[in-house]
Amino acid sequence: VKKGSQTNLKDPVGVYCRVRPLGFPDQECCIEVINNTTVQLHTPEGYRLNRNGDYKETQYSFKQVFGTHTTQKELFDVVANPLVDDLIHGKNGLLFTYGVTGSGKTHTMTGSPGEGGLLPRCLDMIFNSIGSFQAKRYVFKSNDRNSMDIQCEVDALLERQKREAMPNPKTPSSKPPQSKLLREDKNHNMYVAGCTEVEVKSTEEAFEVFWRGQKKRRIANTHLNRESSRSHSVFNIKLVQAPLDADGDNVLQEKEQITISQLSLVDLAGSERTNRTRAEGNRLREAGNINQSLMTLRTCMDVLRENQMYGTNKMVPYRDSKLTHLFKNYFDGEGKVRMIVCVNPKAEDYEENLQVMRFAEVTQ
Ligand code: ADP
Ligand code: MG
Repeated sequence: VKKGSQTNLKDPVGVYCRVRPLGFPDQECCIEVINNTTVQLHTPEGYRLNRNGDYKETQYSFKQVFGTHTTQKELFDVVANPLVDDLIHGKNGLLFTYGVTGSGKTHTMTGSPGEGGLLPRCLDMIFNSIGSFQAKRYVFKSNDRNSMDIQCEVDALLERQKREAMPNPKTPSSKPPQSKLLREDKNHNMYVAGCTEVEVKSTEEAFEVFWRGQKKRRIANTHLNRESSRSHSVFNIKLVQAPLDADGDNVLQEKEQITISQLSLVDLAGSERTNRTRAEGNRLREAGNINQSLMTLRTCMDVLRENQMYGTNKMVPYRDSKLTHLFKNYFDGEGKVRMIVCVNPKAEDYEENLQVMRFAEVTQ
C-alpha cells in the first residue's frame, strides 16, 4: 500500500473559513474578519473593550476567509471548482464542512432553492463540462445512500450496546470496533457494504439521488431518536471515463483505458461538545462516538499538514475512526483535501468557536 505519496501532490490540504451573517443585526458578535485570510476571535468582553487595546485577542489564519457577504457562487469558484476540474482530469478530491450546529454547514454544502450550495454547483459543472469532451464517454455514479457514515455509526453503536449488555464486559479497547460494513475493494478503495451506486445522466437525476439519501438519513435519525446534526452526511460522485474507438461509435471497455475518479462531499456532524447538547444515555454514547471521529479527523488533518509543510512521510492514522477510514485514499495522498470551517459569529458561540479555531489552527 502506498504511503506518504502526498508529497507528490501540490497543495494537498487547504482550510477555508466562512463566517455566516448574524441571526439579527444587534446580536452580540465574537468574530471579526480582519482581511481575506485572517479572522479575530474576541471574548465577549474583549469585543467591547478591544478599542482600548486592553485585551490581547487571538487571530487565526486560513487559506482564505469568506465574510458574511460571500455568495454561494464566489465560494464555489474558489473552493470547489478546482476539485471538479481535478475530478474531470481523473483525480480524487475530498471536501467537507466543519463547525457547530447552526454555523452554516448545510447552507454551504447543499444550500436552498435559488441559493444552491457547493453540491448542486459541482453537479452542474460536471454535467456542463461533458459537452466539451466528445472523445470520451462519461458515466456518473452517485451513492444512493449518502448516509453512509450513519450506517457505520449505527453499527458501532450496536456493537457497543452488545458489549455493554454482556455479563462481564471486558474493558473496551481504545480502537472503535471494526465494522463489517466498511470494506476495501481490490483497488484499495473503502466503501460501505450495502451502498448502491446509481448511474445518473443529468444534474437533476444526480440531485434526486442526493435527496433520496437525505430522506433515508432523516428516517434513520428519527429511528435512532437523534437530531440530524449528530450524524455525518457523505455524498460520493464517481466519474468513470472510457474513451471511444476511432470511429467514435463504441466505448472502449478495456480496463487500462478506463479512468475512475471520485469526489466526496461531506457535511459533518456538529462539532459542539456533548455537555452543550446535554445528551443522555444512548445519545451521549453516540455523541462520544461522533466526537471521536471528529477528533481523529483532526489528527489526520494535522499529520497531513505536517507532511505537507515539512515534506515528511508520517503515517496518517485514518484507521482510528470509521469516518477517516472511509477517506483512506485521500489521506494516502490520492487527491486534495479541502475543509470549510463554518462559524456563526454570535457571542454565545464564543467557547465553541474557540474550539473550532483551535482545530483549524493545527491544520494550517
Ligand atoms: P448547520 O448545517 O451548520 O447546522 P445551517 O446551514 O442549517 O447550519 O444554517 C443554520 C441557519 O442559518 C439556516 O437557516 C441557514 O439558512 C442560515 N445560514 C447559514 N449560513 C448562512 C449564510 N452564509 N447566509 C445566509 N444564511 C445562512
Ligand atoms: Mg446541517
